[in-house]
Amino acid sequence: MVRRPHRENCPGHELSIVHGIVTTVTESLIGRHVSQVYSVKLNVGALSGVVEDALQFSYGIATEGSILAGSRIEVVHIPVRVYCAECQLESELPSLRSFRCIHCGTPSMDIRSGRKLDIESLEIDKEPATPPASLSN
Ligand SMILES: [Zn+2]
Repeated sequence: MVRRPHRENCPGHELSIVHGIVTTVTESLIGRHVSQVYSVKLNVGALSGVVEDALQFSYGIATEGSILAGSRIEVVHIPVRVYCAECQLESELPSLRSFRCIHCGTPSMDIRSGRKLDIESLEIDKEPATPPASLSN
């Protein structure tokens, strides 16, 4: 085994997140007769601190031996939205360099979305209602 130098972005953060996702999804599938999970769609906020590559890598490890083994993770990037008290409007930040209302330019740290990471949906295959026809002659 080759020891790699310590990476700047240690995947420990993503691995613990992914373990949480696997647990949540596995529990949500109990009693639903799901034969296979194809993909898990995940909303990842721009401020969640999650690195997509590390997430994908961790997912492969964390799903081993679970119903999610072999499934994909689909990341939907959620932009940051801030609320401006002047305009009484939310606006979507074009970049993370400047937290300002896009309408009037007032600085705002009233973040309304983009911090969280949630499971959006699952693409699954249900077990057939009737057993498949026998293929023997
Ligand atoms: Zn404004």
